[in-house]
Amino acid sequence: MKEVGNGRHTSFWYDKWCDLGVLAEILGDRGIIDMGVRREATVEEVLNNHRRRRRHRGASLQDIEKELGKLAEKQSNSELDKDLWRWSSGFKQKFSTMETWQLIRETGLQCDWGSRVWFSKATPKFAFITWLAFKDRLSTLDRVSRWSQGIDTTCVLCKNAPETRSHIFFECAVSSHIWEQLTKGIMRNSYSNSCETVMRLISASMEKKKRFCINYALQVAMYFLWRERNKRRHGEPPMPLSVMLKLIDKTIRNKLSLVQGKRVKGLEEVLQFWFSTRL
Ligand SMILES: [Zn+2]
Repeated sequence: MKEVGNGRHTSFWYDKWCDLGVLAEILGDRGIIDMGVRREATVEEVLNNHRRRRRHRGASLQDIEKELGKLAEKQSNSELDKDLWRWSSGFKQKFSTMETWQLIRETGLQCDWGSRVWFSKATPKFAFITWLAFKDRLSTLDRVSRWSQGIDTTCVLCKNAPETRSHIFFECAVSSHIWEQLTKGIMRNSYSNSCETVMRLISASMEKKKRFCINYALQVAMYFLWRERNKRRHGEPPMPLSVMLKLIDKTIRNKLSLVQGKRVKGLEEVLQFWFSTRL
């Protein structure tokens, strides 16, 4: 919005200088004829030249005359026009990217799993696959069969059940073994290989290092399970389960060691914690 000083740098038709809005948008081309103000006019020009008050029939033209009347009282030849930016609390001279973004974006409902996917120190490529999995956007065979009729939907890891999201990441013999190896020592009595139960247990009240280990292990496991599944689908020889487990464990340990080195609060002894929870 423009705060008019002398009106010299404010377009009468195309800047927003009053609460009514941008006049060209309200009145259109017809308005330019009705008002008798040229298209390129500045507010200053209109205030200085135009103003033997006209009587208009249309309600919006009268409103504009009223606004011009108010402006004529305020107009100051010594002040420059100012650009104002919209904030949620009103117009200000300062521009804020965040305020503007908040005003133009559509806010959705906050999903309850967001913090399990996007957390501080997460690895982007693992978080991305996890995110796709949570949204059920990975091309698991149950989904592929919806647009490609007649394909074999059997899970390539266990060859024992149809491949769905919850099967490949939790219920499959391969994934449930990996999941157990990774988290049973951490969850102890509350251990479960049901996705829903685990998600319920990972809450904000859980100790930070415990939560970080489970969340991170979940992402690494999902990433490598999905990679292995893709490799097998493309005819590559299967990676033995023990090798896959070692790879996952090593990836987690590297991360924990890195995080520990950064002295993040609550994660000071996260690597020792991981070792102490191995079966
Ligand atoms: Zn399976």
